[in-house]
Amino acid sequence: MGRLEGYAALVTGGGKGIGRAVVDRFVAEGARVGVLVRSAADMDDLSAAHGDKVAPVQGDVRSWQDNVHTVETVVARFGKLDVLVPNAGVYDFSDPFESIEGADLEARYRELFDVNVLGYLQAARAGLVPLRESRGSIIFTLSSSSFFSGGGGTLYVSSKHALTGTLKQLAYELAPDIRVNAVAPGGTRTGLGGLPSDARELNAIDGFEEMVARTTPLGFLSEPEDHAGLYVTLASREESRFVTAEIIRSDGGLEVRGR
Ligand code: NAD
Repeated sequence: MGRLEGYAALVTGGGKGIGRAVVDRFVAEGARVGVLVRSAADMDDLSAAHGDKVAPVQGDVRSWQDNVHTVETVVARFGKLDVLVPNAGVYDFSDPFESIEGADLEARYRELFDVNVLGYLQAARAGLVPLRESRGSIIFTLSSSSFFSGGGGTLYVSSKHALTGTLKQLAYELAPDIRVNAVAPGGTRTGLGGLPSDARELNAIDGFEEMVARTTPLGFLSEPEDHAGLYVTLASREESRFVTAEIIRSDGGLEVRGR
């Protein structure tokens, strides 16, 4: 018997990386999962792997209608929504603040914050009614950049810090019906990308694995699967029904950095 038997979940940005690992683990634990993805290829991959246990929807987290459509698809297919995981994000590749032309700042800010912050707000807002009905939960993917400097540039770090405030306020307002928690991964081997105009990918950065291993007390670069079980624990009413406004760090011990 899986730990999420009978649960219906929704993961944004679940076609790849950490989101995909959460989808795979949720399905393995017995859940049915709606997945908001960017590309038709991600939809095909998910359907090939999980058949009718997943409901992939192609869309953009910046669009209110796409968030609503994904929630409606989950409820239509699986009858309810127990767990919502806002996860889709983009990175700024630690571009130094001074390297951004002042005249470009507003556009860069809007592109990054629209995905990283507005995308989470819209997913949460779209899911509120069915989540209240199921007394469900929201689980944000946060980041070590929600706590520390140096893991991203000013735009990325400020977006991930903004989400800690979002999480606290939502946990306060939505209690007692909806628990709101987060997993905050550290360096993870994914193809995390940037703004649409930016072709860079995290796992293609020269020396990325060595840099993470060197600066992380546990001494290695994590894989997306390393974080997935924590989402299961937070999703499960049996395992965490008294837990809200909590952020579980899965970052190899950055708090006690010292290597
Ligand atoms: P990833 O690129 O594999 O996953 C991000 C997903 O978001 C992709 O599937 C992408 O298509 C999707 N996405 C991007 N923009 C979107 C949009 N406008 N609409 C819909 N989907 C969109 O990278 P990842 O590392 O798995 O990132 C997942 C989350 O984890 C992000 O929020 C990221 O900030 C966070 N994170 C990553 C790391 C890391 O080291 N990789 C560390 C901490 C936190």
